[in-house]
Amino acid sequence: MAKRYVCVICGHVHDEAVEGKWETLPTDFECPDCGCGMEDYEIQD
Ligand SMILES: [Zn+2]
Repeated sequence: MAKRYVCVICGHVHDEAVEGKWETLPTDFECPDCGCGMEDYEIQD
């Protein structure tokens, strides 16, 4: 099931259903809006 991850800095949402599985993103992934890393995202329930 696709999950949604939210950037805690700017609120950008990464939707797995649209942009692909979180686990498959490159480790140097950056938020497209604020440039923070994956560690600044939280899973949205
Ligand atoms: Zn962000």
